[in-house]
Amino acid sequence: MIQACGLRKNYGTTVALDGVDLHVREGEIYGVLGRSGAGKSTLLRCVNLLERPTAGTVRVAGQDLTALGDAELNRARQRIGMIHQHFALLSSRTVAGNVSFPLEAMGVPRAERERRVGELLELVGLGGRGKDRPHQLSGGQKQRVGIARALAGNPSVLLSDEATSALDPATTESVLGLLKRLNAELGLTILLITHEMNVVKSVCDSVAIMSGGRIEESGTIADLVRTP
Ligand code: ADP
Ligand code: ADP
Repeated sequence: MIQACGLRKNYGTTVALDGVDLHVREGEIYGVLGRSGAGKSTLLRCVNLLERPTAGTVRVAGQDLTALGDAELNRARQRIGMIHQHFALLSSRTVAGNVSFPLEAMGVPRAERERRVGELLELVGLGGRGKDRPHQLSGGQKQRVGIARALAGNPSVLLSDEATSALDPATTESVLGLLKRLNAELGLTILLITHEMNVVKSVCDSVAIMSGGRIEESGTIADLVRTP
């Protein structure tokens, strides 16, 4: 579902990605684990071309994103949802307005948007909270709004940038449970980055360990746990 080959990213003289190969299979939850500065976030932003890699290719659902022009890339990105550590919600908009935002950008008509927003809020357990403002919600609820918004375009892939790092342990479990349910029920492929081993252990099928812009090791969770 996601195939990155020979990814490199330089920022001036800083080498953020130093030749990364990544293969995420359809329907799996894949975790990239590493310390701060390892290059995880750069990798994630190169997967949806928010950053252009200095070298290498990224294929998502068979399409080489690195070969696309801006207009085609915008269309391809609708099939890739993303959630963020600090949720990135628009504080001036209601919960429903936040989830509706990508649908408006796609030109979905109002009646269809309202139906879809209602469905998405139900899906993430926030039915009835559409008229609230983000500041009225807990951290876990804000992340659920982020997830609903990320799913608006009916993506096949969800990218998660430290989505539970700002949450307490119980809320983390609950948000991870939601991601697992979406993976099982929708067949959603999830690529997540984290610095927390417990996140990887609790939801990931596969894991890559990243350090200094490289993947040091990768395999199934069982492989990793067996490693002495
Ligand atoms: P992680 O997500 O694992 O913490 P990052 O991908 O954020 O790691 O960073 C990897 C390296 O690239 C770090 O040395 C970081 O300082 C550098 N870096 C990341 N983004 C930028 C940027 N926009 N400009 C300059 N250097 C950056
Ligand atoms: P905001 O104040 O956040 O901009 P709006 O009332 O202007 O909220 O609505 C923005 C969009 O959000 C609407 O076009 C609609 O698609 C969607 N929306 C708003 N309220 C609801 C709701 N209760 N249920 C479903 N969708 C809604």
